[in-house]
Amino acid sequence: MKPKELTDLSQLCIHTITLKPWSIEEAAKKFSASGVKGITVWRDTLEGRNIKQTGKMLREHGLTIVSLCRGGFFPNKDAGKRQVAIDDNRRAIDEAAELETSILVLVCGADPSQPLEDSRKQIQDAIEALLPDAESAGVRLAIEPLHPMYADSRSAINTLSQANDMAEAVHSPWVGLAVDVYHLWWDPCLEKEIKRCGENGNLLAFHVCDWKVPTTDLLLDRGLMGEGCIPLKQIRGWVEETGFNGFIEVEIFSNAWWQKDQSEFLNKIISAYREYV
Ligand code: ZN
Repeated sequence: MKPKELTDLSQLCIHTITLKPWSIEEAAKKFSASGVKGITVWRDTLEGRNIKQTGKMLREHGLTIVSLCRGGFFPNKDAGKRQVAIDDNRRAIDEAAELETSILVLVCGADPSQPLEDSRKQIQDAIEALLPDAESAGVRLAIEPLHPMYADSRSAINTLSQANDMAEAVHSPWVGLAVDVYHLWWDPCLEKEIKRCGENGNLLAFHVCDWKVPTTDLLLDRGLMGEGCIPLKQIRGWVEETGFNGFIEVEIFSNAWWQKDQSEFLNKIISAYREYV
């Protein structure tokens, strides 16, 4: 099924990191003036700021704070370091609550000095340890599976199937998933796993960008929608067939785009959203 055209910007959210050269105040002003309705805040943009006031400022610009990015990085061979990570994630949950957003996105991490299965077990243990904090703060934890090229150190959860397994094993209303096309577009089971995720009520967030051909940097060369080979409309169709009608979040890390004029980039994001997503 072909998804409906995105004629207005009511579902458009942009991550602060997408326009990294801008401060959060500048992003708020420019998003608001351009009709963008949602913002996902990266923790680094909050440094040195009063988080409650920043949340208020964003809402005064008419923005919905879709989520806070990011917690995670749980696995470590050293139990003491695992505890440090859990404590940092407790702070991230508090920050999300102060911002008054209901989702904290998790980049789960991996420790290359141990088997992936060990890292996965430590991720699940850490998420379970955080459940009481998530519940009392009213913040849901969104596990984001990452492309397998990051299995060494960024995430031991690399397919939506693995993420679905973990969310189902934890089985809590405070844990769900973030589907990011950059990480998952290649997966032959994607349609089936998106359906499964939606049926279990676990689909919390949908991130878009594009996969450039060739990709010159495995972290910082994401494409603007339409610049690459991801079948964005098809994947959005699968996501919406589950009943998902939340924000569509543009998350682009790109040295090339960060070097350009950011107002021009914002205009390009808006037109690419209308044309290619
Ligand atoms: Zn993402």
